[in-house]
Amino acid sequence: MNFNDTEIVASIMKNSGWEIVATPEEATAVLLNTCSVRENAESRVIRRLKQYNHKFKKLNKRYIIGIIGCMAERFNQHLVDLENSVNVVIGPDEYRRMPALLDQALSGNKAVAVELSTVETYDDIIPLRTEGISAWLSIMRGCNNFCSYCVVPYTRGRERSRPMQSLIEETRQLFHKGFREVTLLGQNVNSYKDEETGSTFDILISKIAEISPLLRIRFTTSHPRDMNDNLIQTIAQYPNICKHIHLPVQSGSNRILKKMNRRYTVEHYLSIIDKIKSTIPNSAITTDIIAGYPSETEEDHQQTLELLKQVRFSGAFMFKYSPREGTRAFDEPDDVPEETKIRRLNEIINLQNSISKELNQLEKGRVLEVLVEAPSKKKQQEWMGRSSSNKVVIFPNPQGIYKTGDYVDVLIKKSTSATLFGEVVEKK
Ligand code: SF4
Repeated sequence: MNFNDTEIVASIMKNSGWEIVATPEEATAVLLNTCSVRENAESRVIRRLKQYNHKFKKLNKRYIIGIIGCMAERFNQHLVDLENSVNVVIGPDEYRRMPALLDQALSGNKAVAVELSTVETYDDIIPLRTEGISAWLSIMRGCNNFCSYCVVPYTRGRERSRPMQSLIEETRQLFHKGFREVTLLGQNVNSYKDEETGSTFDILISKIAEISPLLRIRFTTSHPRDMNDNLIQTIAQYPNICKHIHLPVQSGSNRILKKMNRRYTVEHYLSIIDKIKSTIPNSAITTDIIAGYPSETEEDHQQTLELLKQVRFSGAFMFKYSPREGTRAFDEPDDVPEETKIRRLNEIINLQNSISKELNQLEKGRVLEVLVEAPSKKKQQEWMGRSSSNKVVIFPNPQGIYKTGDYVDVLIKKSTSATLFGEVVEKK
């Protein structure tokens, strides 16, 4: 979402006469778009701030440093008080005011704008995208779920959906400009609702899929509580809706899920997985896991490992719990010792990696449709693309026959836990 927000910000700035330059050395102002989900992300921003202060501001007192996004919302005026180098602090719903706030900073006054909105979706702003075949498209902003560990409802405000017609129109334009893949973004895309027509996410995604069979549609993130049969059927029905569902489970223990305020049980989660697997064969399901949530026992942890074995996810984002001030979980004692958190996280990662490896081995001998992206990083004669199930596929392309945006059928010959390797058997 921050990538897409950065494109929106770039568009707003460009329309008011600012220019984007290639390096911070050439800039009048540098804006850091920030994430507050984990402590580590915030610490990196603070380190970067100090670097910019040292490298640029000390040499040029008029150099503007701005913090935008979730950290701006969370720290607000404190950022300016704590870090003297910061000139502007702009929250995620205040980007329209950015040019005026930067002018204020240029005239020597610090500027802070962090009002959250119940309606802002930036639906009339065409993001300034870099060339390519894949585009991000925010279909909604904010979240109403208040999971106990999460800062998002506090930094991005209440949930609101962007009008369906403007999303369809923007996607149509993207396709005509040569984009071949759009990823529909929201904290909880399953609760999308178009105010005007009452259309839900399954309707939106089907209308976007109908723009062209050559356009692939991806989406993230789904909340298990709101995943429904209509959406599963719609994904199965349209070949160009990618067969990859990211469904964060977070824990395999009902006790911990309750404390997390996730509002589903392991049994409910497994029933959705069964429906997905029976309705969309060969689909890939990925997830998020938090290790070492407050009060997590060894038994809770074992239940998470059991869940991983039962579902056999294609992949997972796995992290140890990081307390975030202002959330409900922050008031609970962070009582799982650091070394236990690390050990549990490692057990989760090792198990998941072996499952990913086994699942990728099953792809050997299969033919997968791949959207060609770019030369592979390791060998010049090889290119990479992705399957509908979001697996990275590497294949030879010595004469450069296959171009970015082509669809090719690749026969898979070998695999690792993260990558598939094969040969093109047909160009479409
Ligand atoms: S669904 Fe929960 S974890 Fe996801 S953004 Fe909303 S509050 Fe955070």
